[in-house]
Amino acid sequence: MSVYNQQQIETFRMVRHHLERLPIFQLNWLKRRIESYVQFRADVARFQREHFTDICSRKCFASQSSACCGREGIMTFFADVVVNVLISAPREIDPLLAALALDTGGFNCVYLGNTGCLWLLKPIVCEMFLCEHAKKSALEEDEPLLSQWEGLRLRERQYTWPSQRVLFDELEGFFLEAGLDSPLMYFHQSPGLLRVKAKHGLGPQKVAGVWNQTR
Ligand code: SF4
Ligand code: SF4
Repeated sequence: MSVYNQQQIETFRMVRHHLERLPIFQLNWLKRRIESYVQFRADVARFQREHFTDICSRKCFASQSSACCGREGIMTFFADVVVNVLISAPREIDPLLAALALDTGGFNCVYLGNTGCLWLLKPIVCEMFLCEHAKKSALEEDEPLLSQWEGLRLRERQYTWPSQRVLFDELEGFFLEAGLDSPLMYFHQSPGLLRVKAKHGLGPQKVAGVWNQTR
């Protein structure tokens, strides 16, 4: 198994194992904490569906040559895994684990199944990616649509850009405080993201006890 697959599978298993054993009030706190992000993702998915389905079908899916879903081409954040485990039934996570374990190689992303991406909520990097062709076809001469897309990009930053306390950083902190670690915790390991946090005076994420104040 590749290092990439190994890291992904271990992270999924660790997150699932920990969430299954959490007291219900902490689990509920986490679910409430991701609510607005899940709503944001529904808004992006609707936008993508309405404005890019035809373009992507014509350019890539008909010829099965999508430039979006190449092997190990995307960064999966730890929070992508946590959010998916929180909102998925076990039967929706099992196919991801099976794909990682039974992977036989090839040029496509390990998560690309026969009917598309296997994630219930695909990684944020995938959701927000538009190739130059797609951007040019849909957005170049449509100012209102471009402005809608930029609005969604701004909303994305509220969850993923650590110039302030953001959800993706916080979810890593929650697991770190429980003594759990993963190579996908980029908000605590990536030199680039750590520099952004340091520049804005943000140190290690502290979430201990937050659920006690909010339950
Ligand atoms: S975003 Fe671009 S590369 Fe990706 S599926 Fe659409 S047209 Fe193809
Ligand atoms: S995770 Fe899903 S959307 Fe992202 S590259 Fe893989 S198959 Fe494509």
